[in-house]
Amino acid sequence: ALASNGKTRYEFFSEEMTARSLERLTLTHQLRRALERDELRLHYQPKVCLQTGTIKGAEALVRWQHPEHGLLLPGRFITVAEESGLIGDIGAWVLDEACRQARVWREEGLEHLKIAVNVARPQFEDGQLCTRLQHLLKSTGLPPSWLMMELTESMLVQDAAKALQQMHDLRALGVGLSIDDFGTGYSSLSYLKRFPASELKIDRSFIIDLPKHDKDRAIVQTVVTLGHSLGMDVVAEGIETPEQHRILQHIGCDVFQGFLFSKAVPPEQFDALVRLNREQPQPV
Ligand code: C2E
Ligand code: MG
Ligand code: MG
Ligand code: MG
Repeated sequence: ALASNGKTRYEFFSEEMTARSLERLTLTHQLRRALERDELRLHYQPKVCLQTGTIKGAEALVRWQHPEHGLLLPGRFITVAEESGLIGDIGAWVLDEACRQARVWREEGLEHLKIAVNVARPQFEDGQLCTRLQHLLKSTGLPPSWLMMELTESMLVQDAAKALQQMHDLRALGVGLSIDDFGTGYSSLSYLKRFPASELKIDRSFIIDLPKHDKDRAIVQTVVTLGHSLGMDVVAEGIETPEQHRILQHIGCDVFQGFLFSKAVPPEQFDALVRLNREQPQPV
C-alpha cells in the first residue's frame, strides 16, 4: 500500500491475530456502517410498580438489526463500540432516539412515563453529556421529567469529584438519575450519600437466588432500607419468577423490571402494553 507520504507501507498481520480479533475488526467496520444505514433499534423494557403493577416507564435498550446475523443484543457489540470509540456516536443516537420516541408517546396522549437511557463510561467522562442533553431537551420540547440517565456505580468512583459535579449538572436540567447495577461496583457509602440520584437499581446477581439464599435476602433488604433512607426509589432488575416478586414485595422494594412482566419490546408493542396496563394494571 502507498502511504500518504509516498513511502511504501507494509501491514503485517501477526499470527496472534486470531480469528477473534479479525471478527472484531469486521464488527467494528460493520458497526460504523450500521450507524449510517440506520440499523440500530431501541427496545423498551417496562419498569413496573411492585405494589400496584402500574407501568411507570421503561429502560431503553439498544439492539442492532444486523443484515446477516439478525437482531443482536448489546453484549455482542457494546465492548467493540467502546474500544473503537464508536460508543460516542452510538450513545448520541440512543439519546436522540429515546427523546424522539418519548415525545411521540407524550403527543399521543400517554400519561407520564420515565424513559431511562444507559450512559456509557466514555460518554459520561467526555463531559459533553449535559450540553447535548440540554440542546436535545430544548429542540424536542420534551419535559425533562420524562428522562432518566442510568449511570453505573463503577463510573462514579474513579474521579468522584468530577462525577459528582456532572451529576449535579444533570439534575439541574431536571432529568432523573439512576445508579445501575448497584452492588457490583465499589462505591463507598460516603459517596453514595452524596450522589444526587433518584433511583438505585439492585443488580440482577442479587435477585437470582433470592428465594434460595437468606444472605441475598439480607443484602437486598438492607439495600432497600438504605436507598429509602437516602430518599431514593429502589428498583430490582431481572425478576423472572413469581417467588422473587413476592419476596421483593414483602421487602418493600418499589419498582421491578424483568422477564416475569416483559422483556424489552419494540416501541409499538410497548405502547400497546402501556395502554392495556392503564386500563387494567397487572399486580402479577
Ligand atoms: P443493564 O443496563 O443492566 O440492562 C438490563 C439488562 O438485563 C438488559 O439486557 C435486559 O434485557 C436484561 N434483563 C432484564 N430483565 C431480565 C430478566 O428477567 N432476566 C434476564 N436474564 N435478563 C433480564 P440487554 O438489553 O442485553 O443489555 C445488556 C447491557 O448492555 C445493559 O445492562 C447495559 O449495560 C448495556 N446497554 C444496553 N443498551 C445500552 C445503550 O443504549 N447504551 C449503553 N452504553 N449500554 C447499553
Ligand atoms: Mg441499565
Ligand atoms: Mg442494570
Ligand atoms: Mg445489569
